[in-house]
Order: sequence, then C-alpha cells, then structure tokens
Amino acid sequence: MDVGVLTVVVAGLLALVLRRVVILRRHWNTSRGFATSLLVICIALLVTAGSFEVKHQWVQARATALVAHVSGVRGASADCQRFTPELVDLSATSGFVFFDSQDVAHLRRAVCNDLFTWLRSNKKAPTDGEVRAVHITVHEAMHVRGEFDEAKAECFAMQRDADAAQFLGATRAQAAALAQRYYREDYPRMSADYVSGECAADGPLDLTPGDGQFP
Ligand SMILES: [Zn+2]
Repeated sequence: MDVGVLTVVVAGLLALVLRRVVILRRHWNTSRGFATSLLVICIALLVTAGSFEVKHQWVQARATALVAHVSGVRGASADCQRFTPELVDLSATSGFVFFDSQDVAHLRRAVCNDLFTWLRSNKKAPTDGEVRAVHITVHEAMHVRGEFDEAKAECFAMQRDADAAQFLGATRAQAAALAQRYYREDYPRMSADYVSGECAADGPLDLTPGDGQFP
C-alpha cells in the first residue's frame, strides 16, 4: 500500500475517534454533551480525510492495473502524485518514467483526478482532460514497456487507447470514440518530439485494440 502524509493523518484520526469513544463512555453520566460534540467533529474529519485517501488508493490501483495491462510488464505499477508533492512541483510534465526504475509510471495529480472522474462517470461524454488522462497513462505505460522514443511511445499509446478504455470499463463504441478523439484533437497539438510522420502518414491510424505495430 502507498503510504503518504494523508494515510498517516487518517490513521491518526481513526485512533482519535476510538479514543473519543472510550472517553464518551467513561464520562457518559457527567459530560456526555461535550464528549459527543468532540466525537462528532473527529468523525467528520476522519470521513473527509478518509474519502480523499480512499480515492487516491482506488484510482492508483486502477491506473496500476491499466499500466500492467497495456505494458505487458508483470509487477508494473502507477504512482499517483499526492497533494503535498504537487504543491512544490513546478514541472509542466503530466507523467514520467525513470529510466533506471522503469516499472513505475508516475502520474501527475491532475491526471489521476481526471482519470478518477472518468472512471466514476458513465463515459458517454468525457471531458478533454479525461480523454488525455486515459491516454497519458497509456503513454507512460509504453515507457514502462521500454519504449523511450517519445514519438514511438505516443504512437503505440494511441494504438492502445481504445483497448485501455475498454479495459477500464468503457463500451467498445465509447473506447473507440475516446481513442479517435485524442488522435484528432490532441495529437496534432503535440510538440514535434511526440509526433511522427510515419504514425500519421496515411490518415487515421488503425486504432484496432491490441494492434501494436508502429507503422
Ligand atoms: Zn513520454
């Protein structure tokens, strides 16, 4: 399990709630009103912090499953950026993979947030950010797979976007639409490093799920 500051806070709040329950029982006949108020406040804080922690763990687990699926690398994982590191992260990158620690796809907090909202949605009308979040996760998975040429990673990722979207619960039509939308709307705006003439040479790519051949 990924342990962050929030995990520790949630554990602390849980301990505090249990402590307040004991105190409430002990002072039931004397100051139950005050003890109850404190317990309610602690429970509210625990529920709030806990919901953020559960969200983080859940979306990271889904992203991990996707990275392992599309990269084909056993034990590969995704690492969703937490709140505190995001505060001091001045980079413009949406995700990255360390060359010497290749089995982890690091994803920017905003990407994981968009992935979360898409996963929880009915997937009928994804936002631009949600479309990109699915693709970026697949793109980083291509680095996990060992492809560090950005143009090739981008092309391979586009060829797997539909498969990835279906893997995460989209229908076949929704998955195909998502992949096509990235290809038509986002790919042309990518910087030169990410674009390949071969990939876009003959009009729309064959975005058939599972087709992984770089043209
Ligand atoms: Zn890349």
